[in-house]
Amino acid sequence: MRIVILSDIHSNLVALDAVLAGCGEHDAIWCLGDTIGYGPQPNECVERLSGHHVVALSGNHDLACIGRVDLAIFNPVASAANRWNGQQLNAASRQWLDALPSQRVVDERTTLAHGSPIDPVWEYLLTWSQARRSFAAFTGQLCLVGHSHLPLAFTQHPDGTIEQLSPISDGHVITLGDPQQRYIINPGSVGQPRDRDPRAAYAIFDTGRNTISFARQAYDVAATQQQMRAAGLPEILAARLSHGI
Ligand code: ZN
Repeated sequence: MRIVILSDIHSNLVALDAVLAGCGEHDAIWCLGDTIGYGPQPNECVERLSGHHVVALSGNHDLACIGRVDLAIFNPVASAANRWNGQQLNAASRQWLDALPSQRVVDERTTLAHGSPIDPVWEYLLTWSQARRSFAAFTGQLCLVGHSHLPLAFTQHPDGTIEQLSPISDGHVITLGDPQQRYIINPGSVGQPRDRDPRAAYAIFDTGRNTISFARQAYDVAATQQQMRAAGLPEILAARLSHGI
């Protein structure tokens, strides 16, 4: 099976469509949350995903947009964009988002969590010590996370030692191999990358080859920015897309 791993699409349909067009044949999509918020096309992104064979999570922005997390927790710019995203949602999109968990065990091998297996809604899993705690918080070989918008990977060796794999560049391939060799992997963000590379980030899990490959996809950033400006979304959110920050 070839599974596309997506996270943090953030209502950026132009980026999502570029990824879906560029990622090749696939059997399923796993979406790690924050499908909406920040960007200009929330309903369209939900519709695009719900038309596929998708296993999805909700993220902190999704929950804020549907009123399950207080908008006041976010900075004023994110809060304004989330309010706008929430106002755009039709009943079907709202219902789809509302039914999603923020963490789920897909099978014996794999857990999905938006932030981390310790705090699926809020934790930014970035450091070695956070990875150590997270490895203790899930069973199985693999935990896929999003939320930080940064492609990254940690591995726990069979002797228990933990290592961060870096740098994670476009095309980086992890071979899963020994089931005792465990991994926490973040594919990066489709709709608002923050690693100074404006291209959409995602990963492909090839269960036949037993690999997870990181990938980047160029998209028409200006088209998304134009939609954001037309919608009156905060300029800083449009501008950052040019720089991948
Ligand atoms: Zn996000």
